[in-house]
Amino acid sequence: MSYLSYLTPTATSPWHTYLSQVDRVLPYLGSLAHWSETLKRPKRALIVDVPIEMDDGSVAHFEGFRVQHNLSRGPGKGGVRYHPDVTLEEVMALSAWMTVKCAAVNLPYGGAKGGIRCDPKALSLKELERMTRRYTSEIGIIIGPQRDIPAPDVNTNGQIMAWMMDTYSMNTGTTATGVVTGKPIHLGGSLGRVKATGRGVFVTGREAARRIGLNLDGARVAVQGMGNVGSAAAELFVQAGAKIVAMQDHTGTLVLPSGFDMLKTMEVLKRDGGIGNIEGAGRIDGEAFWDVDCDILIPAALEGQITPERANRIKAKLVLEGANGPTLPEADDVLGERGVLVVPDVICNAGGVTVSYFEWVQDFSSFFWSEDEINVRLDKIMVDALKKIWETADRHKISLRTATFAVACERILIAREERGLYP
Ligand code: NAD
Repeated sequence: MSYLSYLTPTATSPWHTYLSQVDRVLPYLGSLAHWSETLKRPKRALIVDVPIEMDDGSVAHFEGFRVQHNLSRGPGKGGVRYHPDVTLEEVMALSAWMTVKCAAVNLPYGGAKGGIRCDPKALSLKELERMTRRYTSEIGIIIGPQRDIPAPDVNTNGQIMAWMMDTYSMNTGTTATGVVTGKPIHLGGSLGRVKATGRGVFVTGREAARRIGLNLDGARVAVQGMGNVGSAAAELFVQAGAKIVAMQDHTGTLVLPSGFDMLKTMEVLKRDGGIGNIEGAGRIDGEAFWDVDCDILIPAALEGQITPERANRIKAKLVLEGANGPTLPEADDVLGERGVLVVPDVICNAGGVTVSYFEWVQDFSSFFWSEDEINVRLDKIMVDALKKIWETADRHKISLRTATFAVACERILIAREERGLYP
């Protein structure tokens, strides 16, 4: 595997994981494989300095990134992450997975991603706003409603999208609602967007469970990450009759074999921002989460969580990747050998970008749809995409991950070939 000169990736880094996934799909791309270098390097990567005045009058500098991995099929699309571990390499991998994901569900987008290396929990609301506005101004030279459209990711939300939309609009003298998605409803946001990623995890999980004969009624589910994605997916699984028997987030790991009450869980999450203070559940060591007896496991926190060692201990029959890049390539092999079915991130968590696309379309037409219309259209897109991926997996006898890459990379590289090389 060859690396770009400005990287020093390790075997567990997300960019290394992504490159391994590309290498695995090449034998299934026929003559298009000769364009494969296009998949292995981002089109454009911007690193920006984000200086802001802190509340105590001092000046702090943050590192910001925006990477556009591939724009062959349309403008860039991808979230913005605020986290102390954000690096250029992580953002590159996340942007590449966005390219694959958008193509997997056949949205007219390329892939992009952004992030700021910071601890947002240590910032006041005003500092968070100043950092967001300065970051938006700095990356303003490459984003725009027809160029690259950010959205929420880890530790970013509708309020941050509102500040980004306002900053971009002020800088361009427009009301550019289409520059970001995941906005509050009265600023051109879409009904159903907040829970769309979790809903997509549920829809793909429901379809996968049906295909392997796993009844959701009474199924035991373990969820890592009870943020936007994990909590919305958990709520829908409980509505379908499943039980959430284990949850983990940055505040603790809880188990309850009879199943958590999701209404109460959501109240605590809203109040405390974490599950740590939920009463009546057993508390276990974080590492013991991977030994929990369950039928479905949903990693919905960060990448690199399922190592080969943990993959050997997982009891679930079905893994639904709510998070991006939660499984290392070697762990993928272990799960495959053990007969554990993995619905990969690049299709499993595509519900968010699908409703982001609906939001962008609604903003352009200034005509808004009902939540039912959105959920029905989302369901159909996810089911149809998974059906095609499943057929591809069966035809070539490959994993769902490689099949998703095969379907998506074919679309990306056909677009690449048809557009031709410039100049
Ligand atoms: P979020 O910030 O709302 O939630 C993140 C969750 O992860 C929180 O519950 C946090 O406590 C937990 N967490 C953080 N560090 C942890 C650790 N070390 N161990 C256990 N839990 C930990 O973020 P989100 O938007 O729900 O995103 C979660 C994942 O889903 C990310 O990988 C993200 O890229 C992916 N994703 C998000 C969206 C979206 O629409 N928000 C779309 C597609 C994919």
